[in-house]
Amino acid sequence: MSADVEKLWELQSVLSQLGEREKQMAVKPEAFAAIDDEYTAANTEMNRLGESLESLAKERRRVDGELSDQQEILKKYQGQLMQVKNQQQYAAAWKEIDSTRKHVKELEDASLKNMGEADGLQKQLDERKGGHADLKSRYDEAHAEWQASLGDLRKEAEELRARAAAIEAQLPPRLKAEFHKIFKQRNNVAVAPVANDSCNSCRTRIRPALMQQLKRGELVFCEGCHRILYLEKPAS
Ligand SMILES: [Zn+2]
Repeated sequence: MSADVEKLWELQSVLSQLGEREKQMAVKPEAFAAIDDEYTAANTEMNRLGESLESLAKERRRVDGELSDQQEILKKYQGQLMQVKNQQQYAAAWKEIDSTRKHVKELEDASLKNMGEADGLQKQLDERKGGHADLKSRYDEAHAEWQASLGDLRKEAEELRARAAAIEAQLPPRLKAEFHKIFKQRNNVAVAPVANDSCNSCRTRIRPALMQQLKRGELVFCEGCHRILYLEKPAS
């Protein structure tokens, strides 16, 4: 077991070096950050315009559907007008025709207004699309430049990743899982060295019984921070 803890200790050191590289690689240089913001904003705006157009089109289909229904109803009332038998029926039919016409007019207006709005949005979207190829190529170029500048860091990170994988391959799966769980929960420190009979991470004193277990090479967790304790071999 102590050999396994030795490996965990090494894995933790490799992972922390890898974390450093990844942090450095994630920092966007100013030149790229500017174009990245512009590109992201342009994409967001194009999506927004696209969604607005879609919802306008949906609304227009609804309005146009209702409009054709109302036009049918209007025709029906106009037909009835021919068959009225007295003044009272005539007045009633006219009243229906009048109110349906008003409704038809409202729907026609709504449809026109919708078309006007859609035209405006479509124009904006077309303009955006026109400039997008150029923006995208500037973005790609800046991104490639940035990535190229990371050459050494990327190579180092790859090597560290390979080393971590090689160490992990030698660990029992349960121990590996336990390590990663603690690593994630405890600020990327899963293994704490023992110094002066105390946990070096949280300074909790280690009881003599646990020290005995450690010396026997057993897996021991700190009673303060629940990290895996690592007893360095005395230099021989
Ligand atoms: Zn501790």
